[in-house]
Amino acid sequence: MRNQEMLCFNFNLAKNKPESIVNRHTACPFCDTEKLTNVIDREDPFIWLENKYPTLEDTYQTIIIETDHCQSELSEYKPSHIKDLFRFTFNKWFEMQNSGEYKSVILYKNHGPLSGGTVKHPHMQIVGLNKIDYRKKIRMEHLSGEKIDQVGKVSFIISNFPFVGFTELNVKLNAKYDINDIEQMAIYIQNSAHFLLNHMRCNSYNLFFYKIDEYIFVKIMPRFVTSPLFVGYSIPQISDHKNDIVKKMRKIYF
Ligand SMILES: [Zn+2]
Repeated sequence: MRNQEMLCFNFNLAKNKPESIVNRHTACPFCDTEKLTNVIDREDPFIWLENKYPTLEDTYQTIIIETDHCQSELSEYKPSHIKDLFRFTFNKWFEMQNSGEYKSVILYKNHGPLSGGTVKHPHMQIVGLNKIDYRKKIRMEHLSGEKIDQVGKVSFIISNFPFVGFTELNVKLNAKYDINDIEQMAIYIQNSAHFLLNHMRCNSYNLFFYKIDEYIFVKIMPRFVTSPLFVGYSIPQISDHKNDIVKKMRKIYF
């Protein structure tokens, strides 16, 4: 891999970063909103701000605080809240993309101890990458698969060829979405998070958003200890329970 396709992690900055997922006694940096610095925009209760610990070099790291309820979780939000959250977040994501200052801009979320996150308070991250175009690394087969459900232009898909494994869920919507499409995307994301956390013995997930051509894709990625076959050999695995999972999700949610 060439150098410009790697991100350099600043270890010194990371040393002072608060951790509140495992250490429940750490004071939450996102609850004390009066003390937040470098706020870029806010629309209560959503706050867009610069990451105080920008550990990745050649990037511009920002955070969206999703709610003022520290113990809440995305799968529990009311429909109106999640719809407003994604409208706000997508506007900021597109704003950074359209600024022309970055080679590409990633939007993602970490939840749970195996997700790679450090702060429990629900938030997402929008990161401008100065030198990397993430879209070059994405293969469409990882975002397509068997359709579980569809409403209008929004489809809900289980991967036939997961990126890592095992049960990767994807939502696809047209980038010229209307507000009903956003609501439907939010419902699918909530169903997925709820399913993973309540029916899959899973306590962690990521959301990854991709804007490719005229589409937006969301990958809802369950997180477990990463399989050694993937870490060592880049071999993803698919669950032989895939058909049962599709049946179960249709029965519970659709
Ligand atoms: Zn908090």
